[in-house]
Amino acid sequence: MSEPAQGLGTLPRDIHAALKTDPTRVPQLLTGVDLGGAPDLWRTALAAVNLRLGEIIRDVPERGLDRVVREVRDLLMAVWVLESAGALRFSEEGLPVVNRFANAIQSAMRKIAPPLPKKVKLNAPTRKVLPLSPTAVAVAFDDLMLLRGLIEIGDYTRQPDKERDRHVGFLDDWRRQTWEGARVASWERCRELVLSAPIDWSVPGRRFSREAAMELLEAIHRRRQDHITRIPNVSMLACQRCGRFEGRERVRCSVCSRMFCGRCRARTSDLCLADYVRPRYGNIPPETRLSLGSEARNLCARYRLDEHTRDEAFVKALAEMDIKVTFMDAHPAEGAEEQDAKGIWHLRLKHREYASTKRQCFAAMARATLRRLALPADADLEAYFVDTCLGIPIEDALTWNDER
Ligand SMILES: [Zn+2]
Ligand SMILES: [Zn+2]
Repeated sequence: MSEPAQGLGTLPRDIHAALKTDPTRVPQLLTGVDLGGAPDLWRTALAAVNLRLGEIIRDVPERGLDRVVREVRDLLMAVWVLESAGALRFSEEGLPVVNRFANAIQSAMRKIAPPLPKKVKLNAPTRKVLPLSPTAVAVAFDDLMLLRGLIEIGDYTRQPDKERDRHVGFLDDWRRQTWEGARVASWERCRELVLSAPIDWSVPGRRFSREAAMELLEAIHRRRQDHITRIPNVSMLACQRCGRFEGRERVRCSVCSRMFCGRCRARTSDLCLADYVRPRYGNIPPETRLSLGSEARNLCARYRLDEHTRDEAFVKALAEMDIKVTFMDAHPAEGAEEQDAKGIWHLRLKHREYASTKRQCFAAMARATLRRLALPADADLEAYFVDTCLGIPIEDALTWNDER
Protein backbone atom coordinates (compact mmCIF):
# COMPACT_ATOMS: atom_id res chain seq x y z
CA MET A 1 0.00 0.00 0.00
CA SER A 2 2.84 2.39 0.79
CA GLU A 3 6.46 2.55 -0.23
CA PRO A 4 8.93 2.61 2.65
CA ALA A 5 9.99 6.21 3.23
CA GLN A 6 13.74 6.79 2.97
CA GLY A 7 15.74 7.39 6.10
CA LEU A 8 12.86 7.04 8.52
CA GLY A 9 13.81 3.58 9.75
CA THR A 10 10.97 1.83 11.51
CA LEU A 11 9.04 5.07 12.08
CA PRO A 12 6.36 4.50 9.40
CA ARG A 13 5.72 1.02 10.78
CA ASP A 14 5.65 2.33 14.35
CA ILE A 15 3.25 5.12 13.41
CA HIS A 16 1.00 2.63 11.64
CA ALA A 17 0.96 0.32 14.66
CA ALA A 18 0.31 3.15 17.11
CA LEU A 19 -2.50 4.72 15.06
CA LYS A 20 -4.13 1.34 14.62
CA THR A 21 -4.04 0.23 18.23
CA ASP A 22 -3.26 3.15 20.56
CA PRO A 23 -3.08 6.63 18.94
CA THR A 24 -2.06 8.22 22.26
CA ARG A 25 1.41 6.81 21.55
CA VAL A 26 1.82 8.91 18.39
CA PRO A 27 2.94 12.16 20.13
CA GLN A 28 5.92 10.51 21.83
CA LEU A 29 6.91 8.79 18.58
CA LEU A 30 7.06 12.15 16.82
CA THR A 31 8.76 14.33 19.42
CA GLY A 32 11.27 16.48 17.56
CA VAL A 33 10.66 14.65 14.27
CA ASP A 34 10.24 16.64 11.04
CA LEU A 35 8.22 14.71 8.48
CA GLY A 36 8.18 17.51 5.90
CA GLY A 37 10.52 15.40 3.77
CA ALA A 38 8.39 12.24 3.88
CA PRO A 39 5.85 12.72 1.09
CA ASP A 40 4.41 9.19 1.30
CA LEU A 41 4.05 8.70 5.00
CA TRP A 42 0.47 10.00 4.92
CA ARG A 43 -0.61 6.93 2.96
CA THR A 44 0.56 4.60 5.70
CA ALA A 45 -1.03 6.88 8.29
CA LEU A 46 -4.35 7.11 6.46
CA ALA A 47 -4.55 3.33 6.07
CA ALA A 48 -4.00 2.96 9.84
CA VAL A 49 -6.54 5.73 10.61
CA ASN A 50 -9.16 3.87 8.58
CA LEU A 51 -8.43 0.62 10.43
CA ARG A 52 -8.72 2.45 13.73
CA LEU A 53 -12.01 4.08 12.70
CA GLY A 54 -13.43 0.68 11.77
CA GLU A 55 -12.58 -0.48 15.28
CA ILE A 56 -14.04 2.64 16.94
CA ILE A 57 -17.43 2.51 15.21
CA ARG A 58 -17.87 -1.20 15.94
CA ASP A 59 -20.35 -1.99 18.74
CA VAL A 60 -20.72 1.59 19.94
CA PRO A 61 -23.70 0.85 22.28
CA GLU A 62 -21.91 -2.02 23.97
CA ARG A 63 -18.67 -0.17 24.51
CA GLY A 64 -20.36 3.01 25.70
CA LEU A 65 -20.26 6.52 24.33
CA ASP A 66 -17.71 7.79 26.87
CA ARG A 67 -15.07 5.47 25.56
CA VAL A 68 -15.97 6.10 21.92
CA VAL A 69 -15.75 9.90 22.15
CA ARG A 70 -12.36 9.54 23.89
CA GLU A 71 -11.09 7.21 21.20
CA VAL A 72 -12.19 9.63 18.49
CA ARG A 73 -10.46 12.48 20.32
CA ASP A 74 -7.23 10.48 20.72
CA LEU A 75 -7.24 9.62 17.03
CA LEU A 76 -7.91 13.23 16.00
CA MET A 77 -5.13 14.44 18.25
CA ALA A 78 -2.72 11.91 16.72
CA VAL A 79 -3.66 13.17 13.24
CA TRP A 80 -2.99 16.74 14.38
CA VAL A 81 0.39 15.72 15.77
CA LEU A 82 1.19 14.17 12.38
CA GLU A 83 0.06 17.38 10.71
CA SER A 84 2.17 19.49 13.04
CA ALA A 85 5.22 17.29 12.31
CA GLY A 86 4.73 18.02 8.59
CA ALA A 87 3.40 14.62 7.46
CA LEU A 88 0.22 16.08 5.91
CA ARG A 89 1.72 19.01 4.00
CA PHE A 90 1.21 17.24 0.71
CA SER A 91 -1.40 17.18 -2.03
CA GLU A 92 -2.86 14.39 -4.07
CA GLU A 93 -4.92 14.98 -7.21
CA GLY A 94 -4.91 18.71 -6.53
CA LEU A 95 -6.28 18.48 -3.00
CA PRO A 96 -4.37 18.62 0.28
CA VAL A 97 -4.16 15.15 1.81
CA VAL A 98 -5.57 16.55 5.03
CA ASN A 99 -8.95 16.45 3.24
CA ARG A 100 -8.77 12.67 3.18
CA PHE A 101 -8.14 12.42 6.89
CA ALA A 102 -10.95 14.84 7.69
CA ASN A 103 -13.37 13.02 5.36
CA ALA A 104 -12.54 9.59 6.74
CA ILE A 105 -12.97 10.70 10.35
CA GLN A 106 -16.12 12.69 9.64
CA SER A 107 -17.85 9.83 7.87
CA ALA A 108 -17.06 7.48 10.77
CA MET A 109 -18.32 10.06 13.28
CA ARG A 110 -21.48 10.39 11.23
CA LYS A 111 -22.13 6.68 11.76
CA ILE A 112 -21.76 7.18 15.52
CA ALA A 113 -24.16 10.17 15.54
CA PRO A 114 -26.51 9.69 12.59
CA PRO A 115 -29.11 12.33 11.70
CA LEU A 116 -32.60 11.93 13.11
CA PRO A 117 -34.87 10.00 10.75
CA LYS A 118 -36.95 12.37 8.60
CA LYS A 119 -40.14 10.37 9.17
CA VAL A 120 -40.82 8.29 12.24
CA LYS A 121 -42.19 4.92 11.16
CA LEU A 122 -44.50 3.22 13.63
CA ASN A 123 -42.74 -0.11 13.39
CA ALA A 124 -39.24 1.35 13.63
CA PRO A 125 -37.28 0.41 16.76
CA THR A 126 -37.23 3.25 19.29
CA ARG A 127 -34.11 5.36 19.07
CA LYS A 128 -31.75 4.53 21.91
CA VAL A 129 -30.06 7.38 23.74
CA LEU A 130 -26.58 6.36 24.79
CA PRO A 131 -25.59 7.74 28.19
CA LEU A 132 -22.59 10.04 28.41
CA SER A 133 -20.99 11.16 31.65
CA PRO A 134 -20.71 14.92 32.29
CA THR A 135 -16.90 14.75 32.19
CA ALA A 136 -17.04 13.34 28.64
CA VAL A 137 -19.06 16.29 27.28
CA ALA A 138 -15.90 18.38 26.83
CA VAL A 139 -14.26 15.44 25.05
CA ALA A 140 -17.21 15.12 22.67
CA PHE A 141 -16.98 18.82 21.82
CA ASP A 142 -13.22 18.62 21.43
CA ASP A 143 -13.92 15.94 18.81
CA LEU A 144 -15.90 18.49 16.82
CA MET A 145 -13.34 21.25 17.36
CA LEU A 146 -10.43 19.10 16.19
CA LEU A 147 -12.35 17.76 13.20
CA ARG A 148 -13.55 21.22 12.22
CA GLY A 149 -9.94 22.46 12.44
CA LEU A 150 -8.83 19.80 9.95
CA ILE A 151 -11.56 20.94 7.59
CA GLU A 152 -10.43 24.55 7.93
CA ILE A 153 -6.87 23.76 6.90
CA GLY A 154 -8.09 21.51 4.07
CA ASP A 155 -9.49 22.74 0.79
CA TYR A 156 -13.24 22.55 0.44
CA THR A 157 -13.64 25.37 -2.06
CA ARG A 158 -14.92 22.94 -4.69
CA GLN A 159 -17.34 21.24 -2.35
CA PRO A 160 -21.00 21.39 -3.44
CA ASP A 161 -23.40 23.28 -1.15
CA LYS A 162 -25.26 20.05 -0.39
CA GLU A 163 -22.12 18.48 1.10
CA ARG A 164 -21.43 21.63 3.06
CA ASP A 165 -24.95 21.55 4.50
CA ARG A 166 -24.47 17.90 5.38
CA HIS A 167 -21.29 18.74 7.27
CA VAL A 168 -23.05 21.49 9.24
CA GLY A 169 -25.96 19.12 9.91
CA PHE A 170 -23.54 16.51 11.19
CA LEU A 171 -21.90 18.96 13.61
CA ASP A 172 -25.33 19.59 15.12
CA ASP A 173 -26.23 15.88 15.18
CA TRP A 174 -23.11 15.18 17.22
CA ARG A 175 -23.97 18.10 19.50
CA ARG A 176 -27.50 16.75 19.96
CA GLN A 177 -26.27 13.24 20.74
CA THR A 178 -23.92 14.70 23.35
CA TRP A 179 -26.67 16.77 24.95
CA GLU A 180 -29.11 13.87 25.03
CA GLY A 181 -26.55 11.45 26.45
CA ALA A 182 -25.41 13.78 29.23
CA ARG A 183 -28.84 15.38 29.77
CA VAL A 184 -27.58 18.84 28.92
CA ALA A 185 -30.48 21.20 28.30
CA SER A 186 -28.90 24.58 27.63
CA TRP A 187 -25.86 26.26 26.15
CA GLU A 188 -25.20 27.75 29.55
CA ARG A 189 -24.78 24.29 31.06
CA CYS A 190 -22.88 23.09 28.01
CA ARG A 191 -20.34 25.90 28.25
CA GLU A 192 -19.96 25.27 31.95
CA LEU A 193 -19.10 21.61 31.32
CA VAL A 194 -16.84 22.20 28.33
CA LEU A 195 -14.93 25.32 29.34
CA SER A 196 -14.17 24.17 32.89
CA ALA A 197 -12.84 20.77 31.82
CA PRO A 198 -9.06 20.30 31.87
CA ILE A 199 -7.40 19.84 28.48
CA ASP A 200 -5.44 16.60 28.80
CA TRP A 201 -3.92 16.67 25.33
CA SER A 202 -1.78 19.02 23.25
CA VAL A 203 -0.43 19.41 19.76
CA PRO A 204 3.01 21.01 19.32
CA GLY A 205 2.81 24.43 17.67
CA ARG A 206 -0.98 24.43 17.41
CA ARG A 207 -3.49 26.20 19.61
CA PHE A 208 -7.22 25.48 19.54
CA SER A 209 -10.14 27.39 20.98
CA ARG A 210 -13.00 25.72 22.80
CA GLU A 211 -14.64 29.16 23.04
CA ALA A 212 -14.59 29.49 19.25
CA ALA A 213 -16.01 25.97 18.94
CA MET A 214 -18.82 26.79 21.37
CA GLU A 215 -19.60 30.01 19.50
CA LEU A 216 -19.75 28.20 16.15
CA LEU A 217 -21.78 25.21 17.35
CA GLU A 218 -24.26 27.32 19.28
CA ALA A 219 -24.85 29.48 16.19
CA ILE A 220 -25.37 26.36 14.05
CA HIS A 221 -27.85 24.97 16.59
CA ARG A 222 -29.79 28.25 16.76
CA ARG A 223 -29.76 28.66 13.02
CA ARG A 224 -31.30 25.22 12.60
CA GLN A 225 -34.24 26.50 14.64
CA ASP A 226 -34.64 30.14 13.60
CA HIS A 227 -32.97 30.10 10.13
CA ILE A 228 -31.55 33.59 10.71
CA THR A 229 -28.76 33.29 13.30
CA ARG A 230 -25.53 34.34 11.66
CA ILE A 231 -22.72 31.76 11.60
CA PRO A 232 -19.69 33.49 13.15
CA ASN A 233 -16.56 33.76 11.06
CA VAL A 234 -14.21 32.05 13.50
CA SER A 235 -11.52 29.42 13.24
CA MET A 236 -10.85 26.63 15.72
CA LEU A 237 -7.15 27.14 15.13
CA ALA A 238 -4.99 30.08 16.20
CA CYS A 239 -3.16 32.00 13.49
CA GLN A 240 0.52 31.19 13.98
CA ARG A 241 1.43 34.85 13.73
CA CYS A 242 -1.18 36.91 15.58
CA GLY A 243 -2.73 34.10 17.63
CA ARG A 244 -6.27 35.18 16.71
CA PHE A 245 -9.14 32.81 16.06
CA GLU A 246 -10.90 35.29 13.76
CA GLY A 247 -11.68 34.37 10.19
CA ARG A 248 -12.39 30.84 8.99
CA GLU A 249 -9.62 30.90 6.45
CA ARG A 250 -6.22 29.42 7.27
CA VAL A 251 -3.47 29.39 4.66
CA ARG A 252 -0.22 27.51 4.89
CA CYS A 253 2.74 29.63 3.81
CA SER A 254 4.63 27.81 1.08
CA VAL A 255 7.96 29.09 2.46
CA CYS A 256 7.77 28.72 6.25
CA SER A 257 4.90 26.15 6.34
CA ARG A 258 3.16 27.90 9.23
CA MET A 259 -0.55 28.65 9.09
CA PHE A 260 -1.89 32.16 8.94
CA CYS A 261 -5.16 34.02 9.12
CA GLY A 262 -6.40 36.35 6.40
CA ARG A 263 -4.75 39.40 7.96
CA CYS A 264 -1.30 37.84 8.29
CA ARG A 265 -1.09 36.36 4.81
CA ALA A 266 -0.26 38.03 1.53
CA ARG A 267 -3.40 38.41 -0.51
CA THR A 268 -2.00 37.57 -3.90
CA SER A 269 -0.01 34.43 -3.04
CA ASP A 270 0.19 31.53 -0.60
CA LEU A 271 2.75 33.30 1.54
CA CYS A 272 2.73 34.80 4.98
CA LEU A 273 3.28 38.56 4.99
CA ALA A 274 6.89 38.21 6.18
CA ASP A 275 7.82 35.83 3.37
CA TYR A 276 5.96 38.04 0.91
CA VAL A 277 7.58 41.35 1.88
CA ARG A 278 11.13 40.28 2.75
CA PRO A 279 12.42 39.27 -0.68
CA ARG A 280 10.64 42.22 -2.34
CA TYR A 281 11.23 45.08 0.05
CA GLY A 282 13.95 43.94 2.46
CA ASN A 283 16.72 45.41 0.28
CA ILE A 284 15.15 48.82 -0.26
CA PRO A 285 17.07 51.34 1.93
CA PRO A 286 15.05 52.21 5.05
CA GLU A 287 15.03 55.94 4.25
CA THR A 288 13.59 55.28 0.77
CA ARG A 289 10.89 53.05 2.30
CA LEU A 290 10.13 55.73 4.86
CA SER A 291 9.69 58.53 2.33
CA LEU A 292 7.77 56.42 -0.21
CA GLY A 293 5.52 55.07 2.52
CA SER A 294 4.64 58.49 3.84
CA GLU A 295 4.05 59.85 0.30
CA ALA A 296 1.67 56.95 -0.35
CA ARG A 297 -0.22 57.40 2.90
CA ASN A 298 -0.47 61.17 2.44
CA LEU A 299 -1.89 60.85 -1.07
CA CYS A 300 -4.44 58.27 0.04
CA ALA A 301 -5.48 60.49 2.94
CA ARG A 302 -5.67 63.64 0.80
CA TYR A 303 -7.85 62.10 -1.93
CA ARG A 304 -9.56 59.59 0.41
CA LEU A 305 -8.43 56.65 -1.65
CA ASP A 306 -8.40 53.00 -0.75
CA GLU A 307 -8.94 49.79 -2.70
CA HIS A 308 -12.73 50.26 -2.55
CA THR A 309 -12.91 53.90 -3.67
CA ARG A 310 -14.88 54.61 -6.87
CA ASP A 311 -12.85 55.08 -10.06
CA GLU A 312 -13.85 58.74 -10.43
CA ALA A 313 -11.95 59.68 -7.25
CA PHE A 314 -8.83 58.07 -8.70
CA VAL A 315 -9.33 59.86 -12.03
CA LYS A 316 -9.58 63.21 -10.25
CA ALA A 317 -6.53 62.57 -8.09
CA LEU A 318 -4.47 61.46 -11.09
CA ALA A 319 -5.59 64.53 -13.09
CA GLU A 320 -4.12 66.72 -10.36
CA MET A 321 -0.88 64.80 -10.82
CA ASP A 322 -0.98 65.56 -14.59
CA ILE A 323 -2.08 62.06 -15.54
CA LYS A 324 -5.11 61.75 -17.80
CA VAL A 325 -7.09 58.54 -17.46
CA THR A 326 -9.16 57.03 -20.27
CA PHE A 327 -11.21 53.86 -20.26
CA MET A 328 -11.73 51.82 -23.44
CA ASP A 329 -12.44 48.18 -24.20
CA ALA A 330 -9.57 48.21 -26.68
CA HIS A 331 -7.04 49.13 -23.98
CA PRO A 332 -4.88 46.34 -22.59
CA ALA A 333 -6.19 44.65 -19.42
CA GLU A 334 -2.96 45.40 -17.60
CA GLY A 335 -3.22 49.11 -18.54
CA ALA A 336 -0.74 51.25 -20.45
CA GLU A 337 0.90 54.57 -19.73
CA GLU A 338 2.78 57.01 -21.95
CA GLN A 339 3.75 60.64 -22.11
CA ASP A 340 2.60 62.84 -25.00
CA ALA A 341 4.54 65.65 -26.68
CA LYS A 342 3.12 68.22 -24.25
CA GLY A 343 4.45 66.27 -21.30
CA ILE A 344 1.00 64.98 -20.20
CA TRP A 345 0.90 61.37 -19.08
CA HIS A 346 -1.94 59.20 -20.39
CA LEU A 347 -3.10 56.17 -18.42
CA ARG A 348 -5.17 53.82 -20.57
CA LEU A 349 -7.34 51.39 -18.68
CA LYS A 350 -9.75 48.71 -19.81
CA HIS A 351 -12.04 47.73 -16.93
CA ARG A 352 -14.07 50.08 -14.78
CA GLU A 353 -14.39 49.40 -11.05
CA TYR A 354 -12.22 46.29 -11.02
CA ALA A 355 -9.82 45.57 -8.15
CA SER A 356 -7.07 45.50 -10.79
CA THR A 357 -8.12 48.98 -11.93
CA LYS A 358 -7.51 50.40 -8.45
CA ARG A 359 -4.08 48.77 -8.39
CA GLN A 360 -3.25 50.24 -11.80
CA CYS A 361 -4.26 53.70 -10.61
CA PHE A 362 -2.16 53.34 -7.44
CA ALA A 363 0.75 52.17 -9.61
CA ALA A 364 0.42 55.29 -11.82
CA MET A 365 0.49 57.41 -8.66
CA ALA A 366 3.57 55.48 -7.57
CA ARG A 367 5.39 56.17 -10.84
CA ALA A 368 4.47 59.87 -10.67
CA THR A 369 5.81 60.01 -7.11
CA LEU A 370 9.06 58.27 -8.11
CA ARG A 371 9.51 60.84 -10.91
CA ARG A 372 8.81 63.71 -8.53
CA LEU A 373 11.29 62.40 -5.95
CA ALA A 374 13.84 61.74 -8.75
CA LEU A 375 13.93 58.05 -7.80
CA PRO A 376 14.55 55.42 -10.50
CA ALA A 377 11.58 53.72 -12.17
CA ASP A 378 11.75 50.46 -10.28
CA ALA A 379 9.17 47.66 -10.07
CA ASP A 380 9.89 46.94 -6.39
CA LEU A 381 9.62 50.60 -5.37
CA GLU A 382 6.37 50.86 -7.32
CA ALA A 383 5.02 47.69 -5.65
CA TYR A 384 6.06 49.02 -2.24
CA PHE A 385 4.04 52.17 -2.84
CA VAL A 386 1.00 50.22 -4.14
CA ASP A 387 1.06 47.75 -1.23
CA THR A 388 1.23 50.68 1.18
CA CYS A 389 -1.84 52.19 -0.50
CA LEU A 390 -3.59 48.83 -0.14
CA GLY A 391 -3.00 48.99 3.61
CA ILE A 392 -0.54 46.10 3.83
CA PRO A 393 1.52 46.44 7.04
CA ILE A 394 4.84 46.04 5.25
CA GLU A 395 7.13 47.60 7.85
CA ASP A 396 5.58 45.49 10.57
CA ALA A 397 5.96 42.28 8.54
CA LEU A 398 9.61 43.10 7.76
CA THR A 399 10.36 42.87 11.46
CA TRP A 400 8.46 39.67 12.24
CA ASN A 401 10.76 37.28 14.00
CA ASP A 402 11.28 33.75 12.83
CA GLU A 403 10.03 31.76 15.78
CA ARG A 404 8.40 28.57 14.60
ZN1 LIG B 1 -3.05 36.34 11.97
ZN1 LIG C 1 5.93 32.24 5.76
